[in-house]
Amino acid sequence: MTIQTHCARCGGAISKDIPSSLNVRTQPEQKASVLSGELFVAQCPACGNRQLLPFPFLYHDPDAQLMIWLGAEEDARTRAIDVLSSTPEMQDYHIRLVDSPGELIEKIKIFDAGLSDIAIELCKFVTAREAGEDLPLKFLGIDGAAAELHFACPRDGKMDILAVGLNVYEDCCGILQRNPSLEENAKGPVQIDQAWLAQYFG
Ligand SMILES: [Zn+2]
Repeated sequence: MTIQTHCARCGGAISKDIPSSLNVRTQPEQKASVLSGELFVAQCPACGNRQLLPFPFLYHDPDAQLMIWLGAEEDARTRAIDVLSSTPEMQDYHIRLVDSPGELIEKIKIFDAGLSDIAIELCKFVTAREAGEDLPLKFLGIDGAAAELHFACPRDGKMDILAVGLNVYEDCCGILQRNPSLEENAKGPVQIDQAWLAQYFG
């Protein structure tokens, strides 16, 4: 589809052809532009300003049984629930809803690392509570050799990298095993973030 918008800097017209979905099994070469965020950015032909394009986008990784929906509208969610409930081979799918390209990219990184996004949100919650402050953490990656998870943490106008021990993540997985209702409630299209987690851990 073609997205048409106006430049936030000079008001000039911007248009870009973008796919409404990506299946990374059939089009693996497209994945890099999603992970870099380039797919979601358009450049103004008049002034060169680069800006994010808001548009709905579905990321599908059949091998990971993962679907991530950016900006899904209500009727699209309803249709998805219908398809899922009538498709037995999709019962184990992880279907996530996100509000921004940044959140989409974070989810892909979490699942690519073989981690649970629910446990990652719990990790963020525990880490912020220990620090005694509200930390808007974003998962960056896993350092297997150092047994650490890395999170981006914006503080005082700059971006810090916060390392959290893998043992903290494992403790969070243990908490989830003892509270199976969380995994149960994460079936179907759901937005897994700190607000979702706050229903269980306040
Ligand atoms: Zn412009």
